Amino acid sequence: MNPTPSLTDLVALPQIRLRVMATSDVHVHLVPYDYYSDRPGQTVGLAHTARMIRAIRAEHSNTLLVDNGDFLQGNPMSDLVADQGLKGQNGIHPAIGVMNELGYDAGTLGNHEFNYGLDFLMSALDHARFPIVSANVARTLGTDPKDDQMLVLPWVILTRDVKTSEGAILPLRIGLIGFAPPQIVNWDKAHLEGRVTTRDIVEAAKAHVPALRATGADVVIALCHSGIGAVAHQMRMENAVIPLSRVPGIDAIVAGHTHMAFPGADATVDAMVDPVTGRINGVPVVMPGFHASKLGLIDLILEQGPDGWQVTGGKSEVRLVRSDTALPPDPAIMAVAGFAHEQTLEHIRKPIGQSATNLQNYFARVANTAPNRLVAEAQRLILAPAIAESEQAGLPVLSAVSATRCGGIAGADNYIDVPAGPLVLRNAAELYQYPNTPCALVLTGEDLRDWLEQSAGAFCTITPGSRDAQLLNPAMPSYNFDIIDGLTYAFDLSQPPRFDPGGTLIDPDAHRVMDLCHNGTPVAPNARFVVVTNSYRAGGGGGFEMVARAKLLLASRVSTRDAIVRMIRAEDHLAVPTTQIWRFAPMPGTTVLFLSGPGALAHMDSLGDRVIEPVGEGPDGFWTFRLHL
Ligand code: MN
Ligand code: MG
Repeated sequence: MNPTPSLTDLVALPQIRLRVMATSDVHVHLVPYDYYSDRPGQTVGLAHTARMIRAIRAEHSNTLLVDNGDFLQGNPMSDLVADQGLKGQNGIHPAIGVMNELGYDAGTLGNHEFNYGLDFLMSALDHARFPIVSANVARTLGTDPKDDQMLVLPWVILTRDVKTSEGAILPLRIGLIGFAPPQIVNWDKAHLEGRVTTRDIVEAAKAHVPALRATGADVVIALCHSGIGAVAHQMRMENAVIPLSRVPGIDAIVAGHTHMAFPGADATVDAMVDPVTGRINGVPVVMPGFHASKLGLIDLILEQGPDGWQVTGGKSEVRLVRSDTALPPDPAIMAVAGFAHEQTLEHIRKPIGQSATNLQNYFARVANTAPNRLVAEAQRLILAPAIAESEQAGLPVLSAVSATRCGGIAGADNYIDVPAGPLVLRNAAELYQYPNTPCALVLTGEDLRDWLEQSAGAFCTITPGSRDAQLLNPAMPSYNFDIIDGLTYAFDLSQPPRFDPGGTLIDPDAHRVMDLCHNGTPVAPNARFVVVTNSYRAGGGGGFEMVARAKLLLASRVSTRDAIVRMIRAEDHLAVPTTQIWRFAPMPGTTVLFLSGPGALAHMDSLGDRVIEPVGEGPDGFWTFRLHL
């Protein structure tokens, strides 16, 4: 750096201002509609985001629109496309059709792109009129990342005519490189084993970014379907944005996957993370939330340097997409997505049966709930005949489930709440929102106990006699709090956790699980059980090591949700018993606080002998409740 300004420094140099618009984790939210509740969802959907995108294009000469992955899966429309072969306009997947219509410049693959299988993904991508890049997802690995046989292009250079600050039009070479969590090979093992393999994000970046630069990119933007996680690099880490920001040659990063927004007040507090300008290690980073409710913006300034145009400044921001109820959704987007939307509405309203039980999960983090029991029974039933004919016939069959659609980052309305009465197809989607399939594993009593010990990491350690401590560990999402139906047990929260939420054994002497029994008899460490769980967990999802290494006995071809539909259809009046599976060990005089949705207030009678009282309104539309342990 030159300490004394020379004459040329004082003359305003021509600049290029480039505005990158980014979406991430849209999950087929094309139309502003919530198919789970069958009513308009004014805060979601690309048809509203489209208005903001078009307005920005009208105001700024140099813009780019990119998507950061998880665009093909995530709502009843996406399931209908995959399961029933529904096609949008011109036989194109409606998500791809909408992205074509909006004129996306590029995209990358998220983990959920693989949920419906590789053939489904590749044929959907055939219709994309924009490149998809991913530098760490390969068909086969070479000795060097650059020798990998990639699934899609690792990177592209788009040449775009841009306007300089002096009004000149000239070509800018924009390099785009993509990354996905390496864990996809575990999470969708059944689809990907032997067909797709992955590399560490940072390892792939270090090999490919210099090549991208050498090929002539003036600016390099990483589309990273990964979150802002640990500062230090670990091989194959899931959320690798901070280490990625240290790879030389990357000018900006679009992040995602965790469904968070960045920059923002709730960003990770670390010296190298600037939650105001959005720079991490000086590199502008944006994470645009999820379901197209937010648009990410990165503004880059380029100036002419000795080697061509160079990024000399940048910042990022996240804009909330507010639907103006006076304005209809973007008509061009609705024209592309309209047919799939109508078909989805017709589909989700199909009757499937009757429930005698109220199916809600507002208290799933503190009590046994009917939806968990229902899912456990449905996935056990679908595999029961095959288990009975397997070499493990005769072993007790258990069923492990966690609460999905249970608050968390998706908000205070994100709960299952199906009243007793007629059930339609959308209720099955509400009861189970992932396209997982049931899998049967063989485990020992010792492994079962450790599985539950890791689940118990969902709770903070509570001092006996303390008042109003926080109960729930925010690092553990509900979908990783597994309950094993078929056993009975208690959690002693006065004890420290044995595992951290990532599955690392942190205290070999710690035990929270008490009174672990099967049919009233204590579970012996060497006893053997068949456990039905979902394909995500069986593949190692959530870091449950004892589950990942368990012997796979059977995998269902029927999805968990279809198993639920079949069970409901088979019953005249589905009645779900609220069996006591787990409980907290009593701690007299001790109270704890937890959050649930305001809808919980209507179900305070569902708790049996458990004493829970509403305390008042909590953050972000949630309510605070007090549990007497
Ligand atoms: Mn996602
Ligand atoms: Mg993701």
